[in-house]
Amino acid sequence: MNILVINAGSSSLKYQLLNPETQQVLAKGLCERIGIDGKFTYKPDGKQAIKEADVAMPTHSEAIQAVLNALVDKDNGVIGSMKEIDAVGHRVVHGGEKFAKSVLITDEVMAAIEECNPLAPLHNPANIIGIKACQSLMPETPMVAVFDTAFHQTMPPVAYTYALPYEYYENDKVRRYGFHGTSHKYVAQRAAAMLGKPIEELKLISCHLGNGSSVTAVDCGKSVDTSMGFTPLAGLPMGTRCGDIDAGIMEYLMNKYGMDIKEMLNIMNKKSGVLGVSGVSSDFRDLEAAGAEGNKRAALAVEVFEYGVKKLIGSYAAAMGGVDAVIFTAGVGENGGGNRANITAGLDFMGIKIDVEKNKVRGEEIDISAEGATVRTLVIPTNEELMIALDTAALAK
Ligand code: ADP
Repeated sequence: MNILVINAGSSSLKYQLLNPETQQVLAKGLCERIGIDGKFTYKPDGKQAIKEADVAMPTHSEAIQAVLNALVDKDNGVIGSMKEIDAVGHRVVHGGEKFAKSVLITDEVMAAIEECNPLAPLHNPANIIGIKACQSLMPETPMVAVFDTAFHQTMPPVAYTYALPYEYYENDKVRRYGFHGTSHKYVAQRAAAMLGKPIEELKLISCHLGNGSSVTAVDCGKSVDTSMGFTPLAGLPMGTRCGDIDAGIMEYLMNKYGMDIKEMLNIMNKKSGVLGVSGVSSDFRDLEAAGAEGNKRAALAVEVFEYGVKKLIGSYAAAMGGVDAVIFTAGVGENGGGNRANITAGLDFMGIKIDVEKNKVRGEEIDISAEGATVRTLVIPTNEELMIALDTAALAK
């Protein structure tokens, strides 16, 4: 079975053709600058990547057509015809309270996704454009929507309710939703496999630490709390997002500098986080290098981030009444050995202790716990595309 996974943004589109049974990625790539000057990247398995500039892609439709052409190309294609694509899995950012699972896309589902647009005005409309473009080019192929928010729909009201007037929840759906659900779900399932226990018997804390970061408490396989909120701006400080701050700061700065809410939000989304504190970069590798050269603000930015993760591990252990394993995933979680060491330092009182040698391993699933640790610490490379393909295959069958 071959599943095409599509992650459509406003001017870009990531794709992968993979077989969820063998987990083989037949081809993957990226369309960028859609509507501008069209850049196309295509990497068939076992061959060199092909990059083309100035590919005519005024809309997502031409971008997806370029992907399909490449997949069936007689020299570098990986399938004989489009009929060999059994289904398409679409990443959709926001499913609101309507979607607690992935779903086969119907007209009703499209309408419900559109209803969630106000909750994710930057992302959902782009996801919908990607779906519509695929539907028009492959009308007979089943399409599935996989939501970033769905995994977190198991959170209880005590975790998702904001202490605002309750009518803002009832009338306007203002509540914690959480994101990165596909990643948290995937690594939680892998953790259970690594530990050789049913997920229904495990308390897990999943730390997805990348450019965007979130931590999730997974109790018996269900998300019971997560650090992102109504939007992905909440929780940890990230590459460029501030994470949780006192909302009163907004009024103070807006009044003082005559900023409107758009300018304030631009600062909070694009100019804050570790970039804002360091003044150097949003990339953790740059910060590590700058910190090593004595740049105090770069070092502080990373410390603020690591301290945030440490506090979430503590609070989610309290929320679940214990923890069996802490998982690190995504760019920083998978690669940042120093970050993992700092985050877990001092947590031996709760059974978390990592092995210095094992913590040096990169890019593979590994239990980095030290001898005597009663809580496992696991590094698990995330694979959102595979999770989307698995859900898609299950629904398309
Ligand atoms: P995104 O949220 O965009 O998917 P990723 O999960 O790819 O992001 O994570 C990107 C982050 O991972 C960057 O800040 C990058 O610096 C960081 N990263 C990658 N490799 C390393 C490394 N060896 N050490 C520390 N951080 C790393």
